[in-house]
Amino acid sequence: MRALQYRAVGAAPEVVEVETPVPGPGQVLLRVTAAGVCHSDQFIMDLPEDQYIYGLPLTLGHEGAGVVESWGDGVKGLTVGEPMLVYGPWGCGRCYTCAQGKENYCEVAAELEIRPPGLGAPGAMAEYLLIDDPRHLVPLGDLDPVASVSLTDAGLTPYHAIKQSLPTLVPGSTAVVIGVGGLGHVAIQILRTLTASTIIALDQSEPKLDLALEVGADQAFVPGEEAERQIRALTGGRGATAVFDFVGAPATTAFASQVVSVGGEIAIVGVGVGTVDVGFFSTPWDAAARAPYWGSRSELMEVVQLARAGKISVEIETFSLSDAPVAYERLRAGTIRGRAVIVP
Ligand code: NAD
Ligand code: ZN
Repeated sequence: MRALQYRAVGAAPEVVEVETPVPGPGQVLLRVTAAGVCHSDQFIMDLPEDQYIYGLPLTLGHEGAGVVESWGDGVKGLTVGEPMLVYGPWGCGRCYTCAQGKENYCEVAAELEIRPPGLGAPGAMAEYLLIDDPRHLVPLGDLDPVASVSLTDAGLTPYHAIKQSLPTLVPGSTAVVIGVGGLGHVAIQILRTLTASTIIALDQSEPKLDLALEVGADQAFVPGEEAERQIRALTGGRGATAVFDFVGAPATTAFASQVVSVGGEIAIVGVGVGTVDVGFFSTPWDAAARAPYWGSRSELMEVVQLARAGKISVEIETFSLSDAPVAYERLRAGTIRGRAVIVP
């Protein structure tokens, strides 16, 4: 089968011919219908050799959708052809956090070398994808796989981040979204549908600010001193109740610290290595910062329900598997509107 692989540190990903996998005991084989292009792929491909831990060659794609093709011994309850989304943050399924449903925070995944597809295990940018356990499959029903595949990360990750702040996002509150890319443009829609907050979006690129307003932001600015003044003015001097930073660079986490309110929350979702220095002399009283990772399987089911109800949708640009390297070039250039989706 054909697959998009990252084959050497620093090299561009390329489409190659690889063996079609065969499901072993307990495993499921999907015929891939769609795979999403995430900035995290770019992040890992930019890592220097001494920090790169995902194995080579790596078939990319941690956002996957497909139909059930076959399965190994011991798998029950599936039907050939059934459309599925892939829950990506695989864990052991047995530790305390997994038992709580928080497989994304599995206590022993690293130790057991259990890695998500596309981030260690072979990913979804291929004709077929091997799934380690049928529990990682969430039924897609009649939703379009190409339009829905990015719910698995660009939908789930902001949903998980926002859900934790929901008790504070009461009427009169203000939510700031930094970075209106794949994750950020879905975050705005989730905030719009789950809260009555005023939503202020920030992005360095003007077309992304237009996208932010189209999908439901009340205001959109390029980050900087003027944006900070505007946020103060729009909140009566109070600042933002919650800041969701989908860039996470030193400049944006510093901005988040500047605009967060007393008792406010900062979620650093972007992996731009920025930090928030929480302390009496650096952040407002009782402000808190978190760095949430991906989301739980039940949250993915909730995100699918939001999409099914027409409350959220992913703006997509589609590419063939042969053109997948072009999708990554466009992502790097910052010119993808919403999410790039590979259709093998
Ligand atoms: P993306 O490339 O689609 O979007 C990023 C957006 O941020 C773009 O619109 C870009 O113009 C904007 N931007 C970049 N630098 C900026 C700056 N300094 N100020 C303002 N705007 C800026 O990326 P994505 O796929 O949506 O991913 C967003 C981030 O989230 C990435 O860092 C990715 O690695 C990370 N991520 C984290 C998790 C998690 O579990 N925590 C999951 C998925 C992705
Ligand atoms: Zn991702």
